[in-house]
Amino acid sequence: AGPGGHLAGHIRDVVDHPRPGVTFKDITPLLADPGAFADTVDILSAMCTRLGATRIAGLEARGFLLAAPVALRCGAGCVPVRKAGKLPGETFSRAYELEYGTATLEIQRDAFRPEDRVVVVDDVLATGGTAEAAIELVHSTGARVTGVVVLMELTFLPGRERLERLVKSDCVQAA
Ligand code: IMP
Repeated sequence: AGPGGHLAGHIRDVVDHPRPGVTFKDITPLLADPGAFADTVDILSAMCTRLGATRIAGLEARGFLLAAPVALRCGAGCVPVRKAGKLPGETFSRAYELEYGTATLEIQRDAFRPEDRVVVVDDVLATGGTAEAAIELVHSTGARVTGVVVLMELTFLPGRERLERLVKSDCVQAA
């Protein structure tokens, strides 16, 4: 376990959600516990600070709940990466494969400055498809991704390996 090993007791396994055969990691008990949530923000912020973050890119929707307090704690800007059709103005768009079907993520074209060091933040890293799409979107803007920070990594899936062509493996960090 990482520095947040003690937080595991605040994650609830929901069997057969959202489909039969899937066990969903539910972070709502952690969010509802002020001490556990504060520890989470401390740990994720320390990781983002070590990665030199100047912008935190939070992934819709649970990633937003972590990215906003982490960005404030790091003194970094907070940037939403959203599902298709939500962000106003000019956007970059990227479709990616889900287990069943595809999804599309978007980012505003002017979200970053050229010198920004962006860390992608989400709750769970599973197959890595979502984080991969987010990294490629940040790259479309011309900014650099220095890491991916998540609360939980499902280590029985090859998400980390999938991201290795885009960020160094030791820059993918889980609490
Ligand atoms: P991936 O694209 O397969 O890595 O899936 C990661 C995305 O799906 C993240 O945005 C997560 O919020 C969501 N996700 C996948 N599995 C779970 C889970 O067990 N609990 C909560 N979110 C999950």
